Amino acid sequence: MSTPRRALITGITGQDGAYLAEFLLEKQYEVHGMVRRASTENFERIAHLHDRLTLHQADLLDQLSIINLVQDVQPREVYNFAAQSFVPTSFVQPLLTGEFTALGVARVLEAIRLVDPAIRFFQASSSEMFGQARQTPQTEETPFRPRSPYGAAKAYGHWITVNYRESYGMFACSGIMFNHESPLRGKEFVSRKITDAAARIKLGLQDELVLGNLDARRDWGFAGDFVRAAWLMLQQERPDDYVIASGKTHSVRELAELAFGYAELDWREYVRSDPKFLRPAEINNLCGDASKARRLLSWEPTVSFPDLIRQMVEADLKRVRQEREGIKG
Ligand code: GDP
Repeated sequence: MSTPRRALITGITGQDGAYLAEFLLEKQYEVHGMVRRASTENFERIAHLHDRLTLHQADLLDQLSIINLVQDVQPREVYNFAAQSFVPTSFVQPLLTGEFTALGVARVLEAIRLVDPAIRFFQASSSEMFGQARQTPQTEETPFRPRSPYGAAKAYGHWITVNYRESYGMFACSGIMFNHESPLRGKEFVSRKITDAAARIKLGLQDELVLGNLDARRDWGFAGDFVRAAWLMLQQERPDDYVIASGKTHSVRELAELAFGYAELDWREYVRSDPKFLRPAEINNLCGDASKARRLLSWEPTVSFPDLIRQMVEADLKRVRQEREGIKG
């Protein structure tokens, strides 16, 4: 008799947490999520799953709350998607970012080590760790040279995960995830900022879109594909680290052109760049090589960049239209 699969997701109210929760529910998992107490609840992304999930209050800043959580849930797998994940905020709040994004990982690992070191652990690591990358495309072997407090904090999270694997034999994996987007992406990130603006401009609710560096290049994939990779890592015989990426790079300018095109608008009429959105240090180009994941996990991305952006624009057009009708009504 196999015991039911039980997983705990931190960051379940975020984009990746929501996609992973849905994915695991389809696989008949019992899904538990960690949520932080907040004065206003932020459950929109998991509203459609709410009655099939068990949510628990705990906080990455509070060690005992995480120990109690792992003890109560007794999961077989823990996925750490919680973090302060926005690069510009990390320059303004570097210490808080370090608490959540770096030390938070160690707190989860400590809780697992204490409660049950056989629990399998996934850490959502980031291509921001590569920063001013020494080589292109980036692989698991490319040295890290982070360019933001966020990237530096994620580098700590990555190495502490590797360290618990090597020191205590824990099944701890780090997924080095390149940018991944979806209609559930936060509106502060450039992809969703652009698709939301294209929809609002199309429907007459906004006049222009002000961005920062249009020349920055990123490797953008679909979040749904990325959470599947996280699950695959925890189903292997041995724990390891994997780059997860589409392998294709595009500029912010190309993203804007494409998104506005799907809304049947000429981006040049609406988009301008303002230095206030430039970062103290920028990463000009990221491009991942996911051949190890393809080879060992049989992982393949299923959504191309143009399809991803089209789906995001369509979802934003639909939502903004509904909001507008709601306001009129
Ligand atoms: P990141 O790669 O994790 O920092 O993801 P983002 O979506 O926040 O940013 C991707 C790239 O878009 C970065 O190089 C930003 O500098 C660039 N970018 C240009 N304009 C903007 C903007 O208005 N907002 C954001 N978030 N990024 C922008």
